[in-house]
Amino acid sequence: MDYVYGPGRNHLFVPGPVNIPEQVIRAMNRNNEDYRSPAVPALTKTLLEDVKKIFKTTSGTPFLIPTTGTGAWESALTNTLSPGDRIVSFLIGQFSLLWIDQQQRLNFNVDVVESEWGRGADLDILASKIAQDKDHAIKAICIVHNETATGVTNNLATVRKILDQYQHPALFLVDGVSSICALDFRMDEWGIDVALTGSQKALSLPTGLGILCASPKALEATKSAKSVRVFFDWNDYLKFYKLGTYWPYTPSIQLLYGLRAALDLVFEEGLDNVIARHARLGKATRLAVEAWGLKNCTQSEEWVSDTVTAIMVPSYIDSAEIVRRAWKRYNLSLGLGLNKVAGKVFRIGHLGNLNELQLLGCLAGVELVLRDVGYPVKLGSGVAAASAYFQNSTPLISSRI
Ligand code: PLP
Repeated sequence: MDYVYGPGRNHLFVPGPVNIPEQVIRAMNRNNEDYRSPAVPALTKTLLEDVKKIFKTTSGTPFLIPTTGTGAWESALTNTLSPGDRIVSFLIGQFSLLWIDQQQRLNFNVDVVESEWGRGADLDILASKIAQDKDHAIKAICIVHNETATGVTNNLATVRKILDQYQHPALFLVDGVSSICALDFRMDEWGIDVALTGSQKALSLPTGLGILCASPKALEATKSAKSVRVFFDWNDYLKFYKLGTYWPYTPSIQLLYGLRAALDLVFEEGLDNVIARHARLGKATRLAVEAWGLKNCTQSEEWVSDTVTAIMVPSYIDSAEIVRRAWKRYNLSLGLGLNKVAGKVFRIGHLGNLNELQLLGCLAGVELVLRDVGYPVKLGSGVAAASAYFQNSTPLISSRI
């Protein structure tokens, strides 16, 4: 259907790209600058220092790469591994599937551990593979922290525990695209070697920056990693870090100023408060789903995601029709079900710069659409469940007291 103007704001509730706050939009509304002037390196230096905080790392080396999450994946893999290296990778949904596809196309020897979509990574299988791997043939563990297609959050602390238990030296590579800066994420504490995200997710920026941190062990691995890499070569960045100019090629000036503003907002709110806000939004969404009498695609409480909820619909309803109607009739953007869960789930993204009342607007919209497609939901039931929870759990905004 052709684009049709609708009054008011679009309610953007896909799990990325997400809403960009006004402060960030204003910070990006500027001319280009010479990135070799003293100003851009000075700005870049603050960004590199400050992104480490959202990864909870002090020992990691950060990289801001003009790319998306997919490019950040490639950068993580090619800088640390060689073709033919055995890696263990968990297939639990569309994004882990796409990462595995990339790993295979880059000629790694991928040992895929598959779970039913809606379940988390099978860490018992990881434990048995690691226990058996006495000669350390496994070079890396690749895991998506939060599978955006199914709303499943994996337990990274347990992965670390398994590797430590067997003193296994495999690199621990983590996709934090829909988790970093929204969910509890502890790069140093969990011994993660490469963690990565994309600017259009919890940081609430436009798409276009891949943001990574590499542990000292990952940097050491670059010395023997034989994968071909050019654009994504960390050594090119490190060379310019040493020179204090930071950029091997032209950065997006607007995105750098946007990132500065986005990080300032996160620190003003407090990272722990940001994480707690996501926990509230996630819980409220799940309470609404329950009140509607629908099921969360996530099969157990241990994996529920506070950034995205995938909602199963009864078999007589096509979930794609829900997404279509939400956009067409109510200017509400919801996430489609992808691949194996296409037609079976729709998704509500609740990440980034988002507050309680915005979410209630989305939940009200979902109720209208559910009725439109013939699901007998009681209007207001999910909104009431979420509101009751918010009333007791929403903290006062300290600057407004
Ligand atoms: N990983 C996860 C968990 C994602 O949700 C996505 C995109 O939604 C990606 C990777 C791919 O990121 P991009 O589309 O920025 O390349």
